This record gives sequence, C-alpha cells and structure tokens, in this order.
Amino acid sequence: MVAAPGLDVLALLTRIGCHVYTGELHPDGSYEEIFTGPGLELLIGGHPDPDENLSTLWNAYVHPDDLERYRAEGNLGQRSSVAMEYRMRGKDGVVRWVLDQMWLREVTSDGRRLVDGVVTDVSELHRRRQQVDEARAWLDASVSMSPAAIVVMDREWRVQLWNPAAERMFGLRESEVRGTVAPHIPAERREAFAELVDRMILGGETLVEHEETRVGRDGQMQEVSVASSVMFDENGEVTGLMGLITDISARKESERRLRQLALSDPLTGLANRNLVNQRIDAAVTALDSGSPGVAVLLLDLDGFKSVNDSFGHSVGDELLLAVARRLRSCLRDGDIAARLGGDEFALLLERIDGAETVAVGRRVLDALSAPFSLRRGQVVVTASVGVVHAAEQLSGHDLLRDADVAMYKAKADGKNRLVVFEPSMHERVVTRLRLESELRTAVERGEFELYYQPYVDLESRMIVGLEALIRWHHPIRGLLLPAEFVEVAEDTGLIVPLGQWIVTEACRQAGLWRAADPDRPLTISVNLSPRQLYDPDFVDVAARALASSGLPAGVLTIEITENLLLGDAVLAGTRLAQLRALGIQLAVDDFGTGYSSLAYLRRYPVDVLKIDRTFVDPLTDGPRQAALVRSIIDLATALDVDTVAEGVERPEQASALSTLGCHVAQGFYFARPQPAAAISRLLQVGDLGVHEPLPARLDSVDAP
Ligand code: C2E
Ligand code: CA
Ligand code: CA
Repeated sequence: MVAAPGLDVLALLTRIGCHVYTGELHPDGSYEEIFTGPGLELLIGGHPDPDENLSTLWNAYVHPDDLERYRAEGNLGQRSSVAMEYRMRGKDGVVRWVLDQMWLREVTSDGRRLVDGVVTDVSELHRRRQQVDEARAWLDASVSMSPAAIVVMDREWRVQLWNPAAERMFGLRESEVRGTVAPHIPAERREAFAELVDRMILGGETLVEHEETRVGRDGQMQEVSVASSVMFDENGEVTGLMGLITDISARKESERRLRQLALSDPLTGLANRNLVNQRIDAAVTALDSGSPGVAVLLLDLDGFKSVNDSFGHSVGDELLLAVARRLRSCLRDGDIAARLGGDEFALLLERIDGAETVAVGRRVLDALSAPFSLRRGQVVVTASVGVVHAAEQLSGHDLLRDADVAMYKAKADGKNRLVVFEPSMHERVVTRLRLESELRTAVERGEFELYYQPYVDLESRMIVGLEALIRWHHPIRGLLLPAEFVEVAEDTGLIVPLGQWIVTEACRQAGLWRAADPDRPLTISVNLSPRQLYDPDFVDVAARALASSGLPAGVLTIEITENLLLGDAVLAGTRLAQLRALGIQLAVDDFGTGYSSLAYLRRYPVDVLKIDRTFVDPLTDGPRQAALVRSIIDLATALDVDTVAEGVERPEQASALSTLGCHVAQGFYFARPQPAAAISRLLQVGDLGVHEPLPARLDSVDAP
C-alpha cells in the first residue's frame, strides 16, 4: 500500500461502508485470514469479540438461509472472480444485504489460492430495487386490467406493448402484433399521426389528447379518446410512443342525450324553455335595421286543467302532443315552437313584420279550433295567445315578459283570443297580480263574510230560503262584491279553500236560524264555482257542514251555472250525483244565459231553475217577454223542476211572475243581500210584511 500524503485509504473505505480483505482459500472451501480491513464492524453490526477467529468469523454472520449458496459460490471453483449478493445478520440483529466481490490474486507454486475481496453494504440499493419491482408489478397489473387500450411502440412504430384491452378493441392478439408497425393505426390516419408526433417532439409536449371516431370490430362507429405521448430517454432522444385509447361511445351518447334533454321538452320534443330563451336572446341581439323584426307568441290552452282532471294525465299528455303537432304545422322554416311547461307554449318568429305576426297568430288559433280526436274521444280546446313584436333591440327577457302580459290580457278578456301587447297593459297586470296576492292573505286573515239574500214566497211573502253571497272586507278598498274577486279566486284555485269555508259557514248560520225557530222551513243556497267541482274534498266538506250544523240535507241547495254542466260532463255528473246522494238539492243558476242546451236537464238531477234577471227585467215590457218566461216555467213544470225568479226589482214583476206560475222569487224589491244579523232581525219580524216596497232600513245594507 502506497502511503500518499493526506490519503488514508483505510479511513476512506471505512467511510463508504466497504470491508476489504485478503486471505487464502483452501480447497475444502475454508478461508484463512491474511488481512481484514476496516468496515467489518459496519457489516456485522458491532466489534468482533477479541477471541473471535477472523478466518471463520464471517460464516457466523451470513444469514442462515443464504449460507449454503454463499459457501457454494464463495468457493470460486474454476473461476477467477465471483460477485454474489447475500444477507448478513449482524450482532445488532439487523439484516443487511451485501455485495461480496472476490478475485483470485494468485495461485502459488505450492497450489495455495490467494484472494482479495471487498464486501459492500447494498441494503439500500436492494430496498430500492424491491420498490422498483413492486412498482413494476403494479404497473403490469394496471396495464393488463386497464379498460383503455394501451399501446407502446418504439421510435419506428413497432409495437412493444399491447394490453388485453387493445386486444379487445382492435381484435388482434398481443402475440400477433408484437414487433409489427402500428397495426392499430389505419393507413389513412398515419400521416396525421406522424404530424402529431413531430409536433409533440418539436413543441416539447409530452401528452396530447384528442377524440376521434373509428370503425369498431363490429363495424359500428366507435367514439374514442386518444391520449398520445412521446417517451424520451435521458439524453432527450425519442425512445418510443405510447397511446391510450378509451372507448367513450357510451359517455358521448349520454352526453348527447343530456344535451337534448337540457334543450328539449321530453313530452312533445319541442324546444324547451331554456332553448327558446337562448334563441330569443340570439334573435334579439341579431336584430338590425334591415330586419322587419322578431315576434314571440305565448300561448296558453284554455281549460286544459279540466281535461287533465277529468280524463287523467295520459289523455292530457296526448292532447299536448297533438297541440304541439298543430303548432308545428303553423310555422315557417326557421321558426321555433317550444313548450314552456304545463299547457304553455311559445313560438319564436324571426324576420317577420307585425302584420305577418298577427296572421301567424290567427293561423295558430284556427289550427287549434278543430276538435282533437284522442283515444278517449274528442276534445275541444281553445287558446289564449299573447303576441309581442319588436323591430328594435329589446332584451329577450322583456320580450317574453310583454308576451306574457298580452297573454294574461287575452285570458282576462275571455280567453280563446289573440291579444297584441301594448305598453298600457302592464298596469292592469300589476293590479291583477296585487289582487291575487291580497286574496291569498285574505283567506288567512278571515276578511270574508257571507251576506244572505232571501228567497221569498210570492204568495205569502214569507222568506222561504236564503242565498249565501260572498263579500270581502278589503282592508283598503272596503267592501268588495264578488264581481271584483271571484274570477281571480277561481283562476288561482283559491276558490277551493274559500268554497269549503263558504259552505261550512252558510250551514252553520242556517243551523242557528233553524234552532232559533225550528218550525220555520228555510232553505240555504250556496253558489258553486266550476272549479270547485274538481275539488275532491268538496262532497265530504259539505256532508260534514250539514252534519255539524244539524241541518237535514234537503235544506241545502247548491247553485251551479249551466256552463258547468256543458264543460266536463263526466266529472260533473259524478260529483253532482255524489252531492245528490247526500240529499243536497241542485239549482241551475242564471238559467237561460249560458249555451243553453236543455239536454242536461234530463241528464242531471236538477231540482230548481233560477230564471235569470235578464228575463225578469223586461218581463212587464210586453207579451213577447212574458211568453219567453212562460215557456221556461212550462218546461220546468213538465220536467218536474221548481223555478225561482232572480232580480225582481218592481212589484209588477212579482205579480207577473206569480201569474205565470212561478212561486218563489228573489230581488231587491224584497230584500238586498245583507249580513246574517240583519237577516236574523228580518226573520224575527216574521214575514217580510210587504206588499209594498220594503222599508228603507231593511233594504239598504248593501250597495248593488
Ligand atoms: P248570482 O248567484 O246570480 O247571485 C245573484 C246576484 O244578483 C247577487 O250579486 C245579488 O246581489 C244580485 N241581485 C239580487 N237581486 C237583485 C236585483 O233585484 N237586481 C240586481 N241588479 N241584482 C240583484 P252578487 O252578490 O254581487 O254576486 C254576484 C255573483 O257572484 C253571483 O251571482 C254568483 O255567481 C257569484 N257569487 C256570489 N257569492 C258567491 C259564492 O259564495 N261562491 C261563488 N262561487 N260565487 C259567488
Ligand atoms: Ca246564485
Ligand atoms: Ca243568478
């Protein structure tokens, strides 16, 4: 060993964890120590005992499991060097992996074999290698289990790796394709692929993703996502290409369906609110001075709810589909029809002037007017259409709002019509909306009161019955008559809870009057809105009202209008029969003013016809009027139905009616509608006691 200044070889070896040795190897495999360098302690985990024999010491620390191999290989045999790895178990109990390299230095003339060796602790290296092995195993497993096809090619595009998913996707086995040139890239795609690779190399991109459509094994088009990457070695040289190809057909399909769903109405296939909103915005934005304008038509079916309620939703759906079909037929190319929800539709018309817009609107009303033949029979519906036309830029939102206001007006004006928006309409709508919200709270706050108007026997002038008429004590506007709010209550459905309260309250009050004078026969009449017939609870509520008031059922009369009977015949029939089964009487209100079809008088169990005021009013004007009223009374008599005359204001009318055979009447001449307390006083007086106009104090409780 050459001692150079500043160089301490042994110290250096100690520091790097190497143990060096020189010795003699006997033919039997035993070893005799000549020199043992430093670093031994590091490998055996402590200082050797003083009495330990360095020649045999090593064997004691080799891991028992590796001992046999150590002995066999460590013998050198015919070789001049050996490198082996084995484990050692140190004094400290730590197991270390070592690399033992041994060289035959010389064989002496007497046949002794002298060897040099170095033993290095490679535990750390081993641990890393194991990690790498594990990682590779994981990687292998992922590659073979991956649902994505994974293809690795070398720089000449020869396949190096082809996983099971690739076998499935391309229908080629790994063994067939290994080494072949890009069998998964069709000839016509190769140029593009080469360009892609060049771009990636030049741009330094390691991963590029794109989607493409390919023909699958079954001949079906398949949508795939392709992630390509270029692999480089440490010198920056391209070593290969990797592709990860995923079948995304299913995802694409559901994306398409979602998109479709997001923009179209699933029932009718028309555009939905989202889509038409987008289109309206776009149309408005695209408006320029050269364009005659855009138009939006909002359309709401009249009476759709009753179709739905009486025939069920599937018939309702069938009707909506049929309506959608007719709407489409009214459109020009490029126009859009949408269903906004429920029975509300919208049409967007572009490049159209005001006159054409109205013409399209009329066409729509026309198209809808013919009866619809549905599976359950024919149905007639009409529509209320609000139209707005804009030639200058407005927001899409404003356009829709204005169309809505116009539609609202169409409904308020009696439905089945087209109304073109005018700015003044806003105010009316606001008023109406305010009324709606006030009405809602009015029910909760108990702002309603029932007034009662007597039915009078024309002969005896006795009060024989009372009709309950609703009044609203509006906190600001004061006492409101039904004309101001009943329609809104009907439209909003508030008439349902309100109607339940009315029948309950009227029965309760009638019960009190009856209890006060049990011998006096008094009927109580309650008006029923068509909408209330659809209230499934009404029959029960009426039955309970009768029971808790102690009234016999025959005392309660329900007044309905003829129109109700013409509306939904099926449901009306069942509901009326149910009421009738409770013993409740039925009166037809305003008789003679509706679409009078007398057929229903036979079909429905009607007890009373109320002759409308319009017949009573001109009654004393001449013989023609009298003849008309007479024929109504005769008809009623023939059908065994009673009559009540409404709106008697003058004594001559009363006597004329009496002469014609009508025995009961109602009108300001006898008494105005008035609060229960006032009626109680009237009842105490006994009969009205008038053959002359009523005394003012009983007469003027209510303004007409
Ligand atoms: P209706 O059922 O035909 O009620 C008779 C209406 O005629 C009452 O108006 C009454 O005040 C009025 N009237 C009675 N006698 C005369 C008369 O001699 N001359 C004149 N010009 N009018 C007379 P009211 O109370 O304003 O009710 C109007 C309508 O509102 C009722 O017509 C009825 O259809 C409806 N209504 C009233 N109360 C209710 C209710 O509780 N529920 C429902 N659903 N509707 C009601
Ligand atoms: Ca009535
Ligand atoms: Ca009436």
